[in-house]
Amino acid sequence: RLCYLNGEILPLDEARISPMDRGFLFGDGAYEVIPAYDGRPFRLPEHLRRLDQTLEGIRLPNPHSHAEWAAMIARLLEAAGGGDAGVYLQVTRGVPEVRDHAFPLDARPTVFMTVSPLPAPLGPEAGEGASAIRLRDNRWGRCDLKTTALLPNVLLRQEAIEAGADEALLLRDGQLTEGAASNVFVVCNNEVMTPRQSPNLLPGVTRDFVVELLRERGVPCQCSAISADQLARADEIWLTSSTKEVLPVTRLDGEPVGDGRPGAFWRQARTWFDEYKAAFAAG
Ligand code: PLP
Repeated sequence: RLCYLNGEILPLDEARISPMDRGFLFGDGAYEVIPAYDGRPFRLPEHLRRLDQTLEGIRLPNPHSHAEWAAMIARLLEAAGGGDAGVYLQVTRGVPEVRDHAFPLDARPTVFMTVSPLPAPLGPEAGEGASAIRLRDNRWGRCDLKTTALLPNVLLRQEAIEAGADEALLLRDGQLTEGAASNVFVVCNNEVMTPRQSPNLLPGVTRDFVVELLRERGVPCQCSAISADQLARADEIWLTSSTKEVLPVTRLDGEPVGDGRPGAFWRQARTWFDEYKAAFAAG
């Protein structure tokens, strides 16, 4: 496997980062995960805009222009042999002389990227769907930033796994925010909804894409508050993320969601997503 580190493409197991890196010491960095279909990064401008927002939010100047990022990502994808893949990129506040919480004056950002295979998405005809449990959202007040400080998300998802579920759906003050590593859509009374954007959830690139896809094809999709009660009564629940795409949740805390099978709205969204993806990959 290959990676990119500070200007160089090299085998991942030869990459060396100092243990003084603030990413390692403090989780002081930003990241993105960008899916590539047939070697072409999907929604790249949207991912780079969100990277800008995160870097601005953590007061770390972006070391590269969008054109430079695009060229670096293209170079890495080509070196990795194209195909379908997920590009992971992260920028940290670099390697200071001494460990101090305050920003270093002397450090240059560390830029790291690697490429991983994408898991096969669940197709419109496929089986059972995923399972989720509800947990209290105990994360910080800036969940709209995609930072590498993910310990709460790690613990929440681990709790879900240990409960035999695939994902944790998070509730803050009685309202649905998102999943531990995904955004959430619900269908109630034939209406598709997703939580309104706020500092409590990540502005998911896939979420925004799915909202757009539905609206362009005449399916209204509301971005609004979703109560714990609406979540509990939902006919359908979907997760979205760059690697999960659009995934139906068919069990919530061990109980079936709707009739316990992937729903009709999900099947439609999944089909439109696949059509768009196929056209995109074909150029
Ligand atoms: N919310 C969280 C907490 C995430 O970690 C992710 C991505 O993995 C998402 C939402 C989905 O974002 P995107 O669709 O941009 O991948």
